[in-house]
Amino acid sequence: MFSKSITDKIKSFKNVNIICKEVETLPDGIVIIATGPLTTDKLSQFIAKKFNFSNLYFYDASSPIIEGNSIDMTSAFIKDRYDKGNGDYINCPMNKQEYKNFFNELISAKKVELKNFEKKEIFEGCMPIEVMAKRGEDSLRYGPLKPVGLDNPVSKEKYYAVVQLRREDNIGSLYNMVGFQTNLTFAEQKRVFSLIPALKDANFIKYGVMHRNTYINAPQVIDNYLRSKIDNNIFFAGQLSGVEGYMESTMSGLIAGINAFLMIENKSLLNLSPKTMTGAIINYISNSNSKNFQPMNANFGIIEPLEKIIKDNKLKKQELSTRAIDEITKIVKEII
Ligand SMILES: Cc1cc2nc3c(=O)[nH]c(=O)nc-3n(C[C@H](O)[C@H](O)[C@H](O)COP(=O)(O)OP(=O)(O)OC[C@H]3O[C@@H](n4cnc5c(N)ncnc54)[C@H](O)[C@@H]3O)c2cc1C
Repeated sequence: MFSKSITDKIKSFKNVNIICKEVETLPDGIVIIATGPLTTDKLSQFIAKKFNFSNLYFYDASSPIIEGNSIDMTSAFIKDRYDKGNGDYINCPMNKQEYKNFFNELISAKKVELKNFEKKEIFEGCMPIEVMAKRGEDSLRYGPLKPVGLDNPVSKEKYYAVVQLRREDNIGSLYNMVGFQTNLTFAEQKRVFSLIPALKDANFIKYGVMHRNTYINAPQVIDNYLRSKIDNNIFFAGQLSGVEGYMESTMSGLIAGINAFLMIENKSLLNLSPKTMTGAIINYISNSNSKNFQPMNANFGIIEPLEKIIKDNKLKKQELSTRAIDEITKIVKEII
């Protein structure tokens, strides 16, 4: 019903010409591309060639992302393996009993069924943590949960297994669970991964997924206006642009639309402050320095931090929301 109401609304505009067919190349003039995670092959190939990518779609196998300040640091510590690195890792250790409990729940947890066309490509590229675990009780301890070189820096304690979390952003507000590509259902990820002592209260910003996904490497391709850096006539929106989710895709379509209009009118384009959620997502996708860029949802971890420190998480989020709403209200007034 929602979809239909939007389509009807668009059809009601006299200046909009709707043509229902597959687009294979890009027309001249100002264009917004918003063909989503299942962009058809011909257009994918056209875009990949134009922007010099070997391919545009991936068989995604991504690990969960956790909000940094929900990690229990009394059960975790910062350290690089053998102290080689820049302190990008938080380590979540487990003793033998904790590991055995985690392992048993992991191998029996509920999975999402893959589509037939997805099975081959996903498993060629990457093995889910639950499949690796099924190879034997110690397989994870010799793989991603290897504890060597990760003794406690203060107590020097050695651990039975260690889960590593890698910093995802500059300010350390988001952490990726290293090697935890998974096909478990979201509820099971929350239940099983929260058995890791340091993650007992973890806030999962994004769960691991394994599916076909099409998106540009946004930090390389687009600027803060959702516009291609090499061809200013092309805008990207929706999941293809590197955002994920209904609201996020709608938001980026709106901003790309407003900016395309402003460009036609020869006016300066909208560049929203990262104090707003809209600005924060666009800032993240166009400037992220993540080595393995993946589409991002709206979340408090990417919004510009407050000037003052507020320890209470609920109050902090309230303050961030109020500041964002004040900011966006000001901007809307300026546009209208
Ligand atoms: C199973 C599943 C569950 C999800 N659940 C949620 C959820 O609960 N909440 C949430 O926020 N998000 C959810 N998402 C994510 C959300 O669906 C996407 O992020 C969002 O729909 C992307 O919007 P979009 O407009 O970019 O792409 P789409 O919604 O895919 O729209 C793109 C359109 O372009 C068309 N198209 C593709 N190629 C061409 C071409 N060459 N020519 C012409 N047309 C073309 C497609 O057919 C499609 O109609 C879910 C995704 C999946 C797969």
